[in-house]
Amino acid sequence: MGGTFDPIHHGHLVAASEVQATFGLDEVVFVPTGEPWQKEGRNVSPAEHRYLMTVVATASNPRFTVSRVDIDRPGKTYTIDTLKDLHEQRPDTELYFITGADALAQILSWKDVDALFGLAQFVGVTRPGYELSEAGLPGDRVHLQEVPAMAISSTDCRERVARHEPVWYLVPDGVVQYINKHQLYAAAPASGPSAP
Ligand code: ATP
Ligand code: MG
Repeated sequence: MGGTFDPIHHGHLVAASEVQATFGLDEVVFVPTGEPWQKEGRNVSPAEHRYLMTVVATASNPRFTVSRVDIDRPGKTYTIDTLKDLHEQRPDTELYFITGADALAQILSWKDVDALFGLAQFVGVTRPGYELSEAGLPGDRVHLQEVPAMAISSTDCRERVARHEPVWYLVPDGVVQYINKHQLYAAAPASGPSAP
């Protein structure tokens, strides 16, 4: 499951857990992006913070692991490279790429889209506010799955922190503590001379 994970939240974790159970997956590998090409123009937190929050959030599940392939690869992150690297590390493994309805709808704009479906099957999961559809995608390589609706986004979590509103129960407890410890998502200090 690829994502920016800025921060990882319970929407990601529920989706991963549901797909793991439905497809009987041995392992769900969370892959935090390096430089996400779709998110140019907004400040994405340093990869190391996003990686560590993902580790904290997944540590208690024996089937969940976190991979550094995208954050250690220089340059922008493309899913085709993610899948090639994971395939190289696990040549005999059947790969399933888990994505939310919003990301699935964009897949046709991804780099090397035809090769993508050769490297992995795709599982699109429901997400509140987005329509889940496999229109235009190869039906034999794309699966759709309904998961419990979690109306949570990383964007909303970041905005809440900036407004000093709680993110308890939207993200795992350890992630709340990590955000506080490292002062992530604090509102940018106002420019100009500081108040006396
Ligand atoms: P942002 O608001 O920063 O874009 P996000 O909440 O969309 O963050 P991402 O890291 O962009 O999280 O998403 C990673 C993957 O998880 C994507 O495939 C996305 O569709 C999926 N996803 C994110 N949130 C949910 C959710 N609440 N339910 C189902 N899938 C989700
Ligand atoms: Mg997103």
